[in-house]
Amino acid sequence: MTSEYEDAYLEVENLVKYFGDDKAVDGISFGIPKGAFLTLLGPSGCGKTTTLMSIAGLHSIDGGRIRVGKTVFTSPKEGLFLPPEKRDIGMVFQSYAIWPHMTVAQNVAYPLEIREWQRSDIDDRVAEVLKLVGLTDWADSLATNLSGGQQQRASLARAIVSNPSLLLFDEPLSNLDLKLREHMRVELKRIQNEVGITSIYVTHDQSEALVMSDEIIVMSKGKIEQRGGPLEIYSSPVNEYVSNFIGVANLMQAKVVEVSETGIGKVEVSQGGQAVKLMCRLGPGIEAGKDAVLSVRPENVHAEREGGEGMLAGECTHAIFLGSYVDCRVKWGDFEWKVITHPRNHPRTGEKVYLRFDAEHTLAVQP
Ligand code: ATP
Repeated sequence: MTSEYEDAYLEVENLVKYFGDDKAVDGISFGIPKGAFLTLLGPSGCGKTTTLMSIAGLHSIDGGRIRVGKTVFTSPKEGLFLPPEKRDIGMVFQSYAIWPHMTVAQNVAYPLEIREWQRSDIDDRVAEVLKLVGLTDWADSLATNLSGGQQQRASLARAIVSNPSLLLFDEPLSNLDLKLREHMRVELKRIQNEVGITSIYVTHDQSEALVMSDEIIVMSKGKIEQRGGPLEIYSSPVNEYVSNFIGVANLMQAKVVEVSETGIGKVEVSQGGQAVKLMCRLGPGIEAGKDAVLSVRPENVHAEREGGEGMLAGECTHAIFLGSYVDCRVKWGDFEWKVITHPRNHPRTGEKVYLRFDAEHTLAVQP
């Protein structure tokens, strides 16, 4: 029998992992091509780290199969388990895990020493990798004299120095302050791009996932909710959970009135005695007559001064100027819409406004 991802470079097939009676990973499957950057994203406890550790071989697994290239890493059914040190993997963790009594260059050289490289080759490769991560001037400093961001660069250098077949990242930026984290996201992605090593990145931070990834897998309770590119996950979430987890969304209960093969349909939303039918894009599994959740990003709700058909009449309850945009709230019945408007033409607090929606950017998804 062939599997869905047999052409992929890394293939995880139906991975199951229990801790006692608890299923931490519940039969997930995915595959990625060589050189890709995939992020496992989800809240604490959804099984991201367990998946990563299973790929690394730091956990045994209870079911499924993990393969990289032509090498099967783990397959309990076939009695296969390749020990972690034979998997040719580089890892970067939240804690920098660099050795304090060694210099930066010694830290980075270590994986090559245990592989018994020639001294001159080690020196050349270490210099090359330190240049790549921007630590050339720190080669002879004790690792503990580096800042958090620099220590994380040193860990990355150590992880890539042997040019492993796979790079695994477990929340590597969470210990850094916000500004440095934002800078390091871009740096890390640049370096990964340059070395081209297939990477799996674990984070609970959705903006990190959006900035860095070629593809994102959104997880919940040991399962995959959705997989796709950052834009796809953001603009076409498949359900309420993903809409809510990625970015900001207005989420409102709705009744599906009409569906069509074009993928555009109609839903009815109601609040405080007002009911309005809105044209919208239909997510997977949306059926006429059923309940759905309307998901609209704040930048896709348009606040107008004149009303019309398919518009909601509300009141602006606050408008905060944030430089390039104005963050407004518009009350419609008991529901408060989040609306982002242009600073040149935004509603004022207390003003009556009419909310307009375009079908293309208004989405009905499964609850
Ligand atoms: P976090 O970011 O908090 O680590 P996560 O999404 O990576 O979250 P996992 O660490 O994979 O989640 O944990 C998934 C589930 O497995 C959780 O319920 C967790 O409590 C449990 N779990 C993880 N590791 C162990 C372990 N070594 N022993 C027992 N239970 C564990």
